[in-house]
Amino acid sequence: MKDTFKHRGMRNKLADILLDKGIVDTAVLNAVRAVPRHLFLDSSFEDHAYQDKAFPIGADQTISQPYTVAFQSQLLQVEPNHKVLEIGTGSGYQTAVLLKLKARVYTIERQLELFKKTNLFFKKMGYRPKKVIFGDGYKGLPEEAPFDSIIVTAGAPFVPNPLLAQLKIGGRLVIPVGTDEQIMTLFVRKSAKEFEKKELGSFRFVPLLEDKN
Ligand code: SAH
Repeated sequence: MKDTFKHRGMRNKLADILLDKGIVDTAVLNAVRAVPRHLFLDSSFEDHAYQDKAFPIGADQTISQPYTVAFQSQLLQVEPNHKVLEIGTGSGYQTAVLLKLKARVYTIERQLELFKKTNLFFKKMGYRPKKVIFGDGYKGLPEEAPFDSIIVTAGAPFVPNPLLAQLKIGGRLVIPVGTDEQIMTLFVRKSAKEFEKKELGSFRFVPLLEDKN
């Protein structure tokens, strides 16, 4: 598959739809205009890649809906060179959006099959996250902490303490919390012990899997 003028046109329209839905961060909208989402999907979904919908990516997982990716990305308030941890690499689309925002990205995937596939895809496409890790996102990545922000892209039944602990002061954790349905939750670290919490509407994610070991 290639990236063509037609695909770019569809991405511009998608960015307009996201703007209508309340995504106002220009850098995020520009990232949506830039990242060729159709290349992150199975070719049979190519025609649907620029609809504002989630799609299956194998291993029972989905690539998040563009609105959700944009909404979470906007909440992170990424600045160039920020150190960002992503839990749930999946297709790598969210990773690519963070890279477009010029973040230094560390991303963790729990499923070996997806980890391998997406890692290869990053190499093929020339996307360069700092690290792509096969591991358990509940633990975060203590050896690289602290982070400017952490994004969880699967539904967490509870907020894992290690993720809060791995934020810089002023750092932001964006995490959908809940089982059947999730409340998008933002934590901002105010000091070593204080966190400000905001709940920002309901979403639906695949579950953040608990450790199989
Ligand atoms: N950011 C992805 C969204 C994929 S869906 C994208 O843009 O495509 C969520 C992903 O989280 C799935 O790939 C799933 O395998 C992964 N996941 C689930 N539980 C996890 C865990 N405990 N640690 C890391 N990744 C996990």
